[in-house]
Amino acid sequence: MGTPTTVELQRKLCEIEQARYCLLAPSGLAAISMTDLALLQVGDVVAIPDNAYAPNRELAHGLLTRLGIDYWVYDPMRPVVFPERTRLVWLEAPGSVTLEMPDLPALIQAAKAVGAWTAIDNTWSAGLAYQPFSHGIDISLQALTKYQSGGADVLMGAVLTQDHDLHLKLKYAHMRLGLGVGADDAWLVLRGLPTLRLRYEQHDRVTRALAQWMKTLPVFEQVLHPALPDSPGHEYWQRDFSAAGGLVSVVFAAEVGQARVDGFVDALQVFRIGYSWGGPVSLALPYDPATLRRHGAWQPGQSLVRFCIGLESFEDLRADIEQALESAGLSRFSPPLRSGT
Ligand SMILES: *Cc1c(COP(=O)(O)O)cnc(C)c1O
Repeated sequence: MGTPTTVELQRKLCEIEQARYCLLAPSGLAAISMTDLALLQVGDVVAIPDNAYAPNRELAHGLLTRLGIDYWVYDPMRPVVFPERTRLVWLEAPGSVTLEMPDLPALIQAAKAVGAWTAIDNTWSAGLAYQPFSHGIDISLQALTKYQSGGADVLMGAVLTQDHDLHLKLKYAHMRLGLGVGADDAWLVLRGLPTLRLRYEQHDRVTRALAQWMKTLPVFEQVLHPALPDSPGHEYWQRDFSAAGGLVSVVFAAEVGQARVDGFVDALQVFRIGYSWGGPVSLALPYDPATLRRHGAWQPGQSLVRFCIGLESFEDLRADIEQALESAGLSRFSPPLRSGT
């Protein structure tokens, strides 16, 4: 049920997001699965955006369908009508790897039109850059593993709500599934909270500076970061968010080829290779976007690298990317002329 340490962490997380209730789970993914299992039953549909954190969809595909719960993958960048049986709509802003920013008010309205609950994976904003409850969202989910911990050394998730009945449904699932967290882990997250805002602002500042600089390099066909005016959904980010976090992705021209992209990632020295984010050390990870998505105009052969920016200086990170491009033979790459350009 909890300890004084976990209750204190819950209280502080509620304060950050203006929530009334908070439940802690042993990981961000456990918080997602707890939400699904608390709210869905046979015959229901759960709607998941195409660009969501991938294990959310894998959970639906690999486990929920066996329990008679269907999932429906939607393109978050287009107007959507949810199926009638939709009980829960997951939102994520921006998409986990490709960083498109959806029109959240339109999606919230579409979910309400079929009487579905809305749950936002609000990890990217840390609850600082976006306040879900003032926009009518029912549930906010945080992977505390990321910014709140800040140390890249603890796994934890949180589910936050304002509605009492909804909280009770989640709380019973939390109890019955046995998703309690250890007090030592909660203490580690508590220790990160006083510096959360400062760290978030630093991640944001350096990431934006790197994104702007990377846009000037011809080897990157596209730089994806919601604060860049030509990044998908930039206008929605500008309207709804007050800051931008520490993720930036780059798309390499297909002519570069996966081998040279891998060579680039291997040659990075300051960046490590890794999935997580929100910690002190910058991470990079290559992806093949065409295999990630059902929707969207990704070309086969295009490679994407997602960078999560840690707490190093802009100059060190820029120098590292420069030397890695040089070492992969990409520093003087010029894109081939395409028809229509
Ligand atoms: C990391 C992450 C999760 C899951 O968190 P874990 O604690 O690693 O299970 C969920 N959603 C998003 C957007 C994430 O980045």
